[in-house]
Amino acid sequence: MVSLRKLFSVAFFLVAANAAISQDSSPVEVADGVYSYGVGNYISMFVVTSDGVIAIDPINPGHAQGFVAAIKSVTDQPIRYLVHTHNHWDHSGGGQAFKDEGATIIAHVDAYNWMRANPHPNLVLPDESWGGSRKDIVLGGTTVELHHFGASHGHGMTIPLASTSQRVGYIADIVGPNRIPFLFLPDFNVAQLERTLEEILALDTDKIIFTHNSSPNPLQGGTKQDVADTLQYFRDLRAELDSGVAPAAVSLPKYESWRMYDEWLPLNAWKIYMEGHLGPF
Ligand SMILES: [Zn+2]
Repeated sequence: MVSLRKLFSVAFFLVAANAAISQDSSPVEVADGVYSYGVGNYISMFVVTSDGVIAIDPINPGHAQGFVAAIKSVTDQPIRYLVHTHNHWDHSGGGQAFKDEGATIIAHVDAYNWMRANPHPNLVLPDESWGGSRKDIVLGGTTVELHHFGASHGHGMTIPLASTSQRVGYIADIVGPNRIPFLFLPDFNVAQLERTLEEILALDTDKIIFTHNSSPNPLQGGTKQDVADTLQYFRDLRAELDSGVAPAAVSLPKYESWRMYDEWLPLNAWKIYMEGHLGPF
């Protein structure tokens, strides 16, 4: 029998989720034709061209509904593509709102295969998958590069990069400015993540929009410096562990100002420590 307490907690969750969706969420133009859109803790990106719109990460049905409305508030162009960054349900839900607009949904084949094997009511299976390390979407004279650097987090992790007046990248989950990396690093391969961050640093980018961003103006995004800072954090944490400090005792005062420092630093430390014993998991 479902307890009253459980019912209340579910009700609270739904109210909280709906409250987040109803927040004002005007899109912000970060470069010519490139916009960020977000509510709560999730930021998406879209690119307006003279021949249609390319949207990135629908998140969930509520977010996707607001996302489509945000696109329509700045352009009459049809939404031609929806690009998934990776497989996880909390990013890939909500595709139906884009399907209803006639968009073609695209994911890396590694993400696609996982989605096909792990259905969810919010998840619409992509129309197209792509393989390898690079695919370009060219629309109305604008190119959106899709980069895949192998394992890092989830399956088929894709870094989209739009070229207009500036080169604007989009990064989900693997870098979140001004915050300690998420929880116990679920579905992260940390050694491969560090290699991936090095490869991202080699890309030519002027700005980067991050899905999760704890900086004062999250919709304005950040830069490669945020990627470099996250890579340095992992190197510093690994060096502490390699020096023999126990995971629960690790201290990195340099990162004390990052959100969730007290809560998540020890969890990050345990994950990297265990990866060193078991191999990536
Ligand atoms: Zn994820």
